[in-house]
Amino acid sequence: MKTKILVPLALLSALVVLSSNSPRTEAPPAGAWEKITNALPAQAWAKPQKSRKLLVFSATAGFRHASIATGKVALTELGKKTGAFEAVVSDDLAHFEPQAIQQFDAICFLSTTQDVLSPHPEVLKKMSDDEKKIATETTVRLRKSLMNFIESGKGFVGIHAATDTLYNMPEYGRMIGGYFDGHPWNAGTQVQIDVEKGLEKHPLTQMFQGQSMNFKEEIYQHKDPYSSKTQQVLLRLNVEKSGQVGGMKRQDGDYGVAWARLHGKGRVFYCSLGHNHEIYWNEKILSHYLAGIQWAIGDLAAKVEHE
Ligand SMILES: [Zn+2]
Repeated sequence: MKTKILVPLALLSALVVLSSNSPRTEAPPAGAWEKITNALPAQAWAKPQKSRKLLVFSATAGFRHASIATGKVALTELGKKTGAFEAVVSDDLAHFEPQAIQQFDAICFLSTTQDVLSPHPEVLKKMSDDEKKIATETTVRLRKSLMNFIESGKGFVGIHAATDTLYNMPEYGRMIGGYFDGHPWNAGTQVQIDVEKGLEKHPLTQMFQGQSMNFKEEIYQHKDPYSSKTQQVLLRLNVEKSGQVGGMKRQDGDYGVAWARLHGKGRVFYCSLGHNHEIYWNEKILSHYLAGIQWAIGDLAAKVEHE
């Protein structure tokens, strides 16, 4: 059993060392690998049309979640166990270059924060004016490349802080469907998450069998361009049945937790769950992530309707 645990962790830490702005010590909590393994779905929701590659990118220019390390293991093992995709865990910006990005079927932003398509602020500080000029040109090119990738028919998957990312790129906000606007419900708040009414049998929510989830998790509120109208909300916070909190800003009470949307010819899946480590060994949520990823990749059919 021990070697089984050591191999993937060693591999992951090697990848973490390669990336420029991830702390070298990042690792999931003790026992996480086994809990994740036990919670993984037995099989994919749909047979992949061909071998699929998902870039799992978790660069951060702002807050860095400890659960990123856990999420990396969960997504890697989810793809391996079900055969739905191969997760390429890397924060290397070279993957976003117009040619390089084409090797992927979808890009996953796992709790990224702030301006992740530019060099890390600490790196930027040390650059000469010429280097900064090149960096700016590179950022423009990578932004365009990411948007072209999605709009041309590929997939995008956002987990948790992916909406706390790229505020300076409004086309990203429109693509993902909203920007983070604080979390009135903290990591320790007991919350209830409901399946959106009428979607009990939807391919992206069927794993919940119409049942609500109750657990402790940090829940985001989102601001413009967020709207339930411009995306298909899949999961929603039940405000009445969740812990009472301050700081709620939405007059319309619209607190979507997961959604899907079409963007150009591409498919975008976002799930805000993923702050606490436990989310990554929750059977239902792993199954939900898998469905969302397979839909974004283009293997799982699902009706997604919005304005
Ligand atoms: Zn968080």
